[in-house]
Amino acid sequence: MYGILTADRDLGRAEVGDVTHFFADSVDGTRREPLSGAVNSVACWGDTATVRDEPERAAVTADGTRATPVTEGHHWGTVCPTDPDYRDGLLERLERVGAVGDVRLTTLGFPGSSFCHCKRCERQFDASDHEDRDAWRTAVITDFVADATERVEGDLLATLYPDPYPGNLRERAGLDPAALAPVVDGFVVPLCGVGYGTTYWVESLARGFARELEGLEADLTIQLSADGVDADRLVGLTRQLEAHADTIVYGTYPDDAAVVREVIRRVSEADTPAQTV
Ligand SMILES: [Zn+2]
Repeated sequence: MYGILTADRDLGRAEVGDVTHFFADSVDGTRREPLSGAVNSVACWGDTATVRDEPERAAVTADGTRATPVTEGHHWGTVCPTDPDYRDGLLERLERVGAVGDVRLTTLGFPGSSFCHCKRCERQFDASDHEDRDAWRTAVITDFVADATERVEGDLLATLYPDPYPGNLRERAGLDPAALAPVVDGFVVPLCGVGYGTTYWVESLARGFARELEGLEADLTIQLSADGVDADRLVGLTRQLEAHADTIVYGTYPDDAAVVREVIRRVSEADTPAQTV
């Protein structure tokens, strides 16, 4: 399948391709009415507005560095995943969004291997049965996704950080695809690049994820960026990836819509049944 990811409601309704991912909640804290029939994307703990208003809710390292947009390596603020009020509010939001269509979770997990060492996380880890901190963090995130699944009527997709090296997702974010697969319907991996001057890394990462998810009952969606990329390049890139993914979605601004329509038309025409399985 092919589709788009957009924050533009009109474009989201335009039925470009087979599936539309729509930004219902963005990492800057913007909330939009979910789009009926779309896969509505909800930023989980990435929430710059909350971290700006209440900095003490940000995830924090042992040396006191908070996950804010100005912290090196962070592009948005991230709330601590064990914040109970935030967790409850997020589940309520997912229930409302999940009543309208499928749901995609983004910014799922801890914002890096050194997070979170807030007093609450230290207390919860000490009180847990886990001796290994990564195992505890992974249990925190897996439990949340299991609760989210209960709230969402349609399919639930989990976005993964684009690092398929074995064990790295768990260490970075507390994400374990094998543990999540029973409670989600699929995974989304963003492999976005400016212009795709080179594409070997996109194919390598897609191949790595296909291997990592092999044998799991979950589909793989690869997200590409269409911004400023010409149709020939996107068609070529898509063909490189088709063997590894069930679905490809193109991040699309209204100005790129014509190019993306052309790309989807060309790659769909070239499809054989074996490539659409
Ligand atoms: Zn914490």
